[in-house]
Amino acid sequence: MGILDPYKGFGVTFSTMFKKPTTEQYPEEKKETAPRFHGRHQLNRHPDGLEKCVGCELCAWACPADAIYVEGADNTDEERYSPGERYGRVYQINYLRCILCGLCIEACPTRALTMTNDYELADDSRSDLIFTKEQLLAPLGDGMTAPPHPLFLGDSETDYYRFDPNRMGPFDASGFVDVADRDTEPEPVR
Ligand code: SF4
Ligand code: SF4
Repeated sequence: MGILDPYKGFGVTFSTMFKKPTTEQYPEEKKETAPRFHGRHQLNRHPDGLEKCVGCELCAWACPADAIYVEGADNTDEERYSPGERYGRVYQINYLRCILCGLCIEACPTRALTMTNDYELADDSRSDLIFTKEQLLAPLGDGMTAPPHPLFLGDSETDYYRFDPNRMGPFDASGFVDVADRDTEPEPVR
């Protein structure tokens, strides 16, 4: 150690004393994330409220951390949760295992699974960090009805999946209302 080294050390201390503090006041002030930040997952819905998840388990197979558990089941005409044949009856993501890599959302064929910007995923209970389908489902938006219910966006699959809000809508429990009878502008479909 040289004779000047202690003074160099104090020099670092003194120069730091006059710098602007970088302390973040979290959780009082939350920091904005980048727009494409990988945060908590969300299970999305169609514009009538039916679930996009078809229970195919591709997300679970793609997950390198084995963090997703899916059990699919058949829809029936009396009890329909998604437009296709199958829906995700059980859906869980274990945030003790998840590394937020996003491979699951890449694997999802229906864009049912996406990731939000919510990064507050800490808890003091292991079981509370296993999120269930009810916690992961997107909230019901305007014009949506909680499943189970029939297809509201069209009688055929083509009408349903090519839902055109300029041609049809809004819709209710009796089906979609023709554009001629519409008195409000439809919400854009995301
Ligand atoms: S983000 Fe990655 S680790 Fe987390 S559930 Fe999806 S695939 Fe698994
Ligand atoms: S979230 Fe997507 S990939 Fe996963 S089970 Fe549902 S439809 Fe399949």
